[in-house]
Amino acid sequence: MPYLDHNATAPFHPAARSVWLETVEQAWHNPGGLYPAATAARELLEACRERLADLLDCDPARVIFTSGATEGANAVARHLRATAEHGTILISPLEHPCVDEAFHGLLGPRVELLPVTAAGVVAWETVLPRLHTGRRPALISVMAASNESGVLQPWRTIAETSRSAGVAFHTDASQWIGRLPAAGLGECDWVTASAHKCGGPRGVGFMLVPAGIKALHAAWGGPQERGRRAGTEDVAGIAALVAAIESAEASLSTVVAEDRAGPRDRAWNRLRDGLPGAVLVSGAAERLWNTLAVVVPGADSRRLVAALGRAGVAASTGSACASGAGSTPRILAAIGAERLGLSPRDLRGMVRFSSGHATTDADWETAVDALVSACGDELPPPRVSLHG
Ligand code: PLP
Repeated sequence: MPYLDHNATAPFHPAARSVWLETVEQAWHNPGGLYPAATAARELLEACRERLADLLDCDPARVIFTSGATEGANAVARHLRATAEHGTILISPLEHPCVDEAFHGLLGPRVELLPVTAAGVVAWETVLPRLHTGRRPALISVMAASNESGVLQPWRTIAETSRSAGVAFHTDASQWIGRLPAAGLGECDWVTASAHKCGGPRGVGFMLVPAGIKALHAAWGGPQERGRRAGTEDVAGIAALVAAIESAEASLSTVVAEDRAGPRDRAWNRLRDGLPGAVLVSGAAERLWNTLAVVVPGADSRRLVAALGRAGVAASTGSACASGAGSTPRILAAIGAERLGLSPRDLRGMVRFSSGHATTDADWETAVDALVSACGDELPPPRVSLHG
């Protein structure tokens, strides 16, 4: 049955699974040891670091393996609190709670939210006049791709512009990695990501830190990761992370970019025919090829997602973290009901489908038909909207 919740977590990629099994069997030793088996585990760890750095275009010394994007974002915020005592931290209002909560929690009133356009793209140009003045921010943080709507943010341009102004830039690349080429992410000062969004194991991730950082102020303890992230390294998880990204990058190279979004776009056309009132979220923006977020005016997204589940379709209300909470997805809150042509109540009706490299047209069709049928059961006849 269709699994269309890859933005929450993706199934273990067979290549990553086989690398993981082989490593837990054969290279399970503590990479900090001094005997040959430990040295072999350490060599594998360093080979993984080099391979990942190669994919991201950066110096391997900048790569730190973590337990995931949440740990990474917290480490960035802690580092800023410890080292950059002044200066505003500009973040997008679309950030995953691991950035939003960590930054607000650790940096408090220094955090300011950037505006977004009606399509859900961060209007980062509004900070340009500030970059060369005394009001220069200490850091800008904008996610590479939105988990909720798939909107691609202009991280390359922000990274370049920030660098020339001497402002640090962080991007949460959790949804980008494995869905679009990782090349160039090394241009960002800070990058955080998880393995499990693209077929690696849960509880493993990585971060890129600016060159030359010695102390990270994240986790205190042993000397692992050049003293910047204490804790025995999960070599099998790390090897599987790299294998998952490599496999995803190989899949990307075999499909023409324009064709990747084909199944998703055909699904939207089918959905629009079945539910003429449905609103495509961020339809005017460039989006990840795998993500389709729609608002069904008047619907309760949790009821729809539950009905989809009963029909054997795994989808989500927007973000895994918000699934149970009944909250408005960040993307809709940031754009605002008015600009979407919706009432505030309608913002509760978002459903997100997110596919993987192996998802077929038939999976999308089943999912869309299940949503149309769930809406027939749950809703009064839909209003026709001008947005589509
Ligand atoms: N950032 C984004 C954009 C995400 O979608 C997620 C997971 O949903 C995270 C960060 C957090 O990842 P993890 O729970 O693996 O730390």
